[in-house]
Amino acid sequence: MTPTSLTQATNLLAQSKRPLLIAHPRPDGDTVGSALALRLALAPLGKAPVLACVHPLPASLAWLPGADAFVQDVAEDAPVDLVIAVDLSDLSRAGGVYKDTWRGHKPLLVIDHHETNNAFGDVNLVEPEAVATAVPMLALIRALGVPVAGAIATCLLAGVLTDTRGLRTDNTTATTLALVAELVAAGGDYAAVVQKTLDAVPYQQMRGWGVALYGLQLEGDLAWTAFPLAEKTQLGIADHDDLDLGNLLSRVAEANVVASFLEMRDGTVKISFRCRPGYNVATLAKALGGGGHRQAAGCSTPGPLDAAVARVLPLVRDLLRAQSASM
Ligand code: 5GP
Ligand code: MN
Repeated sequence: MTPTSLTQATNLLAQSKRPLLIAHPRPDGDTVGSALALRLALAPLGKAPVLACVHPLPASLAWLPGADAFVQDVAEDAPVDLVIAVDLSDLSRAGGVYKDTWRGHKPLLVIDHHETNNAFGDVNLVEPEAVATAVPMLALIRALGVPVAGAIATCLLAGVLTDTRGLRTDNTTATTLALVAELVAAGGDYAAVVQKTLDAVPYQQMRGWGVALYGLQLEGDLAWTAFPLAEKTQLGIADHDDLDLGNLLSRVAEANVVASFLEMRDGTVKISFRCRPGYNVATLAKALGGGGHRQAAGCSTPGPLDAAVARVLPLVRDLLRAQSASM
């Protein structure tokens, strides 16, 4: 992110009356919290933002201020004059909400922090060193001259606290802690974010963890699990629920790299990768058509489940071998 991109972003917003904010599928606290914060900041400036995410918000995020404003799609001819991609590393992450005919007609602003972001916007407010998209979002809101208080601070806290798994990722620094302190001092509801977003696991998801953990395999320093569609159906788990398997597996002490394979109803398999600092799973996820961060990345790959596991695990083993050798 440069001072120029920040100025270009505020200029785009100044010219817009009705921007569309897009959050990514299987929405997390960062994409939702950052989008909600910007929506709250734009309201007093006389803008009427539209918020969209192809999937419904999970209960852990649906309590956030203004969350009921989210819609699941917008018409191609919707009267929006600016599109803002929030926490999306590429346009395919819009999940179909972005319409191809808008290209070249509606300006596109990208606000993100993924290392794999391919700068697909007309203006790109991308800060790969940031722990969450909420960080460049805070800078943007400040540049708009809107005070960061109360509900805005709570939404940004949700972004920072979820993307750092409660300030536990290795990119958490004194600056991150100071930022959290600042948001709490500004009226951000830390306790609510911790209790309702970080700590609350729906019953269904816990039961899903039972299945995932029962199938957990450890091969040297690689841990993985495969979750069949039949089990999802039996537990009543929808496709937009990824059970947060990547973060669950990331805690296996013996593993340097973990992978979860979740079978989808459309025949694809959603893969989440996590790794210890010093390793990098972003490149592999990107090579498989996905993206993410060094320590947390993912992709969707063709099924069926067994074939996806058989195709991808050797790539993970190669990655471990190569990266262990160079450490
Ligand atoms: P998760 O494994 O929890 O779904 O995602 C971990 C990280 O990888 C997140 O930053 C997420 O945005 C990114 N990610 C996960 N799946 C995909 C994907 O299919 N495409 C891209 N570009 N990024 C993904
Ligand atoms: Mn994020």
